[in-house]
Amino acid sequence: MTPDEFRQRGREVIDWIADYMENVEQYPVLSRSQPGEVRAMLPAHPPASGEDFDEVLADLDRIVLPGITHWQSPGFHAYFNANSSGPAILGDLVSSGLGVQGMLWATSPACTELELHVMDWLVEMLDLPPAFLSSGPGGGVIHDSASSATLTALIAAREATTQGSTNHTGNLGNLTAYTSTQAHSSIEKGVRIAGIGSDNLRSIEVDEAFAMDPVALEAAIEKDLAVGLRPFFVCATVGTTSSTAIDPVRAIGEICRRHGIWLHVDAALAGTAALLPEMRWIHDGVELADSYVLNPHKWMLTNFDCSAFFVADRAALIGALSVLPEYLRNAASASGEVIDYRDWQIPLGRRFRALKLWFVIRHYGVEGLQSYVREHLRLTKLFAAWVDESDDFDLVAPVSVNLVCFRHPGGDDVNQAIMNKLNASGEIYLSHTALDGKLTLRLAIGQTHTAERHVRRAWDLIGATVQSVLA
Ligand code: PLP
Repeated sequence: MTPDEFRQRGREVIDWIADYMENVEQYPVLSRSQPGEVRAMLPAHPPASGEDFDEVLADLDRIVLPGITHWQSPGFHAYFNANSSGPAILGDLVSSGLGVQGMLWATSPACTELELHVMDWLVEMLDLPPAFLSSGPGGGVIHDSASSATLTALIAAREATTQGSTNHTGNLGNLTAYTSTQAHSSIEKGVRIAGIGSDNLRSIEVDEAFAMDPVALEAAIEKDLAVGLRPFFVCATVGTTSSTAIDPVRAIGEICRRHGIWLHVDAALAGTAALLPEMRWIHDGVELADSYVLNPHKWMLTNFDCSAFFVADRAALIGALSVLPEYLRNAASASGEVIDYRDWQIPLGRRFRALKLWFVIRHYGVEGLQSYVREHLRLTKLFAAWVDESDDFDLVAPVSVNLVCFRHPGGDDVNQAIMNKLNASGEIYLSHTALDGKLTLRLAIGQTHTAERHVRRAWDLIGATVQSVLA
């Protein structure tokens, strides 16, 4: 593809995306594709010679779109959102255009320095602890996902506790980690991958608001210490996946300090709410954390993937992850004046992800991002009030951020039937969880284009669906 052809085809692709943005509301939110249907439309073998680009574009409409669940539809209320926005898409496009692999500062200084800078901006924007600034001992880095960030934190904590066990054949069997019963599954996955083992992850009980009980945490730590185990890692969640419960980070952090345990804070979704001064209470005690993660790719208008991971002491991270072969040696790294992000993550190679976040922050400004989040919080409260006042549903968990958990008193089958019917309507898409052992409907309000009329429509539809399910 010559630059001229690229120019022409690029315009067509941008037009296609812009048309998609305009029309996304008209597609069924949850794809109606059946298993195997997309593959059945694809040729069994790859083309031997190159095809006309028109045919490729036509197949986007014919084959791909029917198999898409429209995360960018304003009726998408399932899971936590994965925001997309014009500036983020364009930033990602520039990243692809430059085709940079930023493993070392030297392999593209701008890739590293822009990322360091934008991570420092996030610290300021969210009023995070100054220890996370790159000018101090810590700093931030963009990972692909919160799962990777948490795994990295686990490995840094493990190495800090065992003084570099990966350099020896150390016995990790006596290390123990702690998180609440409500923590995201990525914590257990990380514990397994880091060689700690699921058996050594303690699930700490929660209170009636689904937040971790710090008394139960300390009791579990002391019980393990008493039998010679080594508590090394606690993960507190700010905004749990099931109900956006906020763990008491300060109380948890004080326990961690007392026992010399690494505290990781998973604020994957809810951290973005701290853009608003009135929401900063969610971060109370975060200055006691050794590491922290939030996903701009969830609720900060930045296309997947963009997960912001911060550490208070980068030496622990680099010490755990740095392996230096001859072919990566260079004068800049040797000078000690630069940061090489390869040492802050699991893979070697890395994309220029900072560009899309930089585009987003510059395009919307802090105030633009604040008013976007504030509106979602207002809509969430509005929806929660309707649920609260209704005879059909009960609110099941406190509404602390942008998620409403509710259920019909008729039991799991009724709630499941309501959800199935709503999702089959194509107009909205909800998901479910289990709270107190009962099936609970989750409605998240965080899609880039969700406005009051969509939330009103969702509530009307839910009301009508209850009637038809119970009829
Ligand atoms: N942590 C929490 C609290 C989440 O809600 C999620 C996903 O929804 C994750 C972690 C995992 O995020 P990622 O897909 O970036 O790994």
